Amino acid sequence: MHFTNRQLFLRHLALPSVDKEAPEIIKAEGIYLYDVDGHQYIDLVSGVSVSNTGHGHPRILVAIKKQLDDHMHLMVYGKYIQSPQVRLARKLADHLPDSLQSVYFVNSGSEAIEGALKLAKRVTGRTELVSCRHAYHGSTHGALSLLGDEEMKYAYRPLLPDTRLIRYNSLEDLNMLTENTAAFLIEPIQAEAGIILPEDGYLKAVRKRCDEVGCMLIFDEIQMGFGRTGKLFAFEHYGVVPDILCLAKALGGGMPLGAFISSRENMLLLTHHPELGHITTFGGHPVSCAASHAALDVILDEKLAEGADQKGELFENELDSHPVIKAIRRKGLMLGVELKDPLTLPALMRLFKKNRLIVDQFLFNHSSFRIAPPLTISEEQILPICDKIRSCLDEASR
Ligand code: PLP
Repeated sequence: MHFTNRQLFLRHLALPSVDKEAPEIIKAEGIYLYDVDGHQYIDLVSGVSVSNTGHGHPRILVAIKKQLDDHMHLMVYGKYIQSPQVRLARKLADHLPDSLQSVYFVNSGSEAIEGALKLAKRVTGRTELVSCRHAYHGSTHGALSLLGDEEMKYAYRPLLPDTRLIRYNSLEDLNMLTENTAAFLIEPIQAEAGIILPEDGYLKAVRKRCDEVGCMLIFDEIQMGFGRTGKLFAFEHYGVVPDILCLAKALGGGMPLGAFISSRENMLLLTHHPELGHITTFGGHPVSCAASHAALDVILDEKLAEGADQKGELFENELDSHPVIKAIRRKGLMLGVELKDPLTLPALMRLFKKNRLIVDQFLFNHSSFRIAPPLTISEEQILPICDKIRSCLDEASR
């Protein structure tokens, strides 16, 4: 009996949500995806901030193919010297401050958060973990415990004890960080809350309070890092260096890779009492590291971070004056577009889909949609895309 891929997808893939009309994609190139029937889709989400260098960048493909010829997995993380990991860690360190020179590679964003939380407990000898309302940090138990929305948590309780949520951008709430706090985990720019930017001086005040109480400041740059905001790392905009930096998504250049980064002194704590304080089989997979290194080269050589701001501004200028739009929040090429009437959002999303524009909603903001295309998008591509977005907005408002 013959089944279509769609039937098998719905029958055999365990899915977080079921979309019977999900497109069947068989090819991707640059900012375009293609389905089995040859339709072209425009990627304005980048697989949620993953494909910063566009789909199938030739330099990344070459690096992956070369690494495949050399070797794939050899041994659990850290047991052998593997040049793709070493070269990548060195290259990341070259672009990071002195206090962030030791890179622990994992496979995903959630795992980077797990490692960072454990490290903060070891460094401080404390247990309390604080994060922000409307923050998303991942789906594993530790990351979920720090997630800022009860709707996604209640069915999985009990979660980690000794956690606390505070309001992002509230100076007053920083007083809830105390001498009991091991870590404050925060996205320098809140992504799933709808691209919420830090108010002037907020992140400096965060740094100051963490220093006062002696807790670790962990930045989750999993969605914002690697060029998306107009700098290689989002924290560079604000003159604030975290104690631990978490990266994933675009870090892998399209391959699965995550990392938590701190000082060597801190990281050595994971090697004793107990030994093997954090272990992973596939963390820092050589093919992912080779892809990541090539992606970093592409971001730097093609000045993608520098270009992100100009391209983001073009989107903003083209869309800002549309009568259904209330506000656009933006950093680099990451836009949260807020509608005057949130009730138009479902119809608008259907129109985007019909017009094969890949645009996404946020987890914790139901009046805005996200635009975050590959950073390789050209200005010539942006203008006709904005025409298409505008005609969807026109139709949704009718
Ligand atoms: N942190 C942020 C800000 C994210 O956006 C995500 C994923 O969307 C994660 C952490 C978790 O990353 P992953 O899905 O790779 O586990």
